[in-house]
Amino acid sequence: MIFLFMKLTFLGTGGGRFTTIFQKRNTGGIRLDNEKNHIHLDPGPGALLLSKRNGLDPKKLNSLILTHSHPDHYNDLEVLIEAMTKGGTQKTGKVLTSESGIKKMDEYGPTLSDYHKDLPREIISLNNNSKIPLKDQSKVIPVPAKHSDPSTRGLILETKKGNIGFTSDTEYFEELGQIFSDTRLLIMNVTRPKAASIPYHLSTDDAIQLLEEVDPEVSVITHFGMKMLNQGVEEQVKIIREETNQKCIAAEDGMKIEFDRTINFQDKQDKLTNY
Ligand SMILES: [Zn+2]
Ligand SMILES: [Zn+2]
Repeated sequence: MIFLFMKLTFLGTGGGRFTTIFQKRNTGGIRLDNEKNHIHLDPGPGALLLSKRNGLDPKKLNSLILTHSHPDHYNDLEVLIEAMTKGGTQKTGKVLTSESGIKKMDEYGPTLSDYHKDLPREIISLNNNSKIPLKDQSKVIPVPAKHSDPSTRGLILETKKGNIGFTSDTEYFEELGQIFSDTRLLIMNVTRPKAASIPYHLSTDDAIQLLEEVDPEVSVITHFGMKMLNQGVEEQVKIIREETNQKCIAAEDGMKIEFDRTINFQDKQDKLTNY
């Protein structure tokens, strides 16, 4: 039997309040599609519109994932639940969410209304730390993160072609390298540039540290804050490449990745790069 690769589409590469408010980069999250799974991860503002513009039917979704309750991650979640459940007429699909999606965690959440909690077939908390099965034997493994929403989770997507790691929003902490050690592709939310670390977020320096520990086949930096964009993402990724001697890509809005035996990147102009 031939299993198709997983395709990732970056419907957003912006992160943080100001990048989001000014839409300096899109903030629609990441869509993941293979033969059986249609997943939308962290659907921030614009997720619905950008899905349509990129030819990705939101009615096809069978899983939605929310890593934490900041609007650059959750804004379009409810409307995508409505799309997934065909306007609420079919009790179908899964929503995997940080606890703050379901109930109040400190000053965050609950993000979902009772009405929207009732629409999908399942609402699953990412905070139980167990593997969550998707279709085609893929699994989501929730992993710890250190962010202002205390229920924030990163995740590892286990597929037949290997593991994809997503840090979500987190600061660097000692166990992070170990957590993502078995990922072929590591996607890091690097909000801040070099020498500009702040709590609860990764900077260029943290990305270098993490990559030295994980050494994935390829890594991607995304979720850029305003300071990161002003300093120049290309320059920051160059620093990462030079210091780690690894393959690291700066995500662009509309970029696609084919995750297969090789990992292929396709930019907005459809230029293909193989790794
Ligand atoms: Zn964020
Ligand atoms: Zn956040």
